[in-house]
Amino acid sequence: MRTRRKQHARLEGNGPAKILCRQCAGLCCRYFALPIDTPKTRADFDDVRWYLAHEGISVFVEDGDWYLNIAARCRFLDPDNRCGIYPRRPRICRGYEHDACDFHSGDYGYELHFTCLEDLDDHLARRRRPKRPRGKPAPPRPQKKRTPTRT
Ligand code: SF4
Ligand code: SF4
Repeated sequence: MRTRRKQHARLEGNGPAKILCRQCAGLCCRYFALPIDTPKTRADFDDVRWYLAHEGISVFVEDGDWYLNIAARCRFLDPDNRCGIYPRRPRICRGYEHDACDFHSGDYGYELHFTCLEDLDDHLARRRRPKRPRGKPAPPRPQKKRTPTRT
């Protein structure tokens, strides 16, 4: 199973990771994201709409890949935002890349992010709008009506 954005810096140990994790509310332990097939057909997009109809779900696109984002707090995140099973935490948590962690990087780098069904509908509507051919001038703007002035 491929996952991403489950990057957990050292909660123990020396260096900046320790300090950052102490300042952070355990952001990386409050969700996970799974890759999904890139939607191509109307039916595929409708399936994504179905995902987005659920609470706690968002969908984002990064480097052209689509991901399902599930907001779910890890059961082992302590009230003080530290890992309650640190010595036996899963390997995904061990494989952190601290430099790119949510708190450290501050930039998710999304190309697209849909937080609700309407977001995706708007995106699809924008895609359907016909594009003006290159070089073709924009249609003239409607003139403002002027009140005739008396002479
Ligand atoms: S998001 Fe970064 S700073 Fe926060 S707990 Fe996770 S690894 Fe530590
Ligand atoms: S097991 Fe520990 S490090 Fe992994 S997500 Fe849960 S609280 Fe975070």
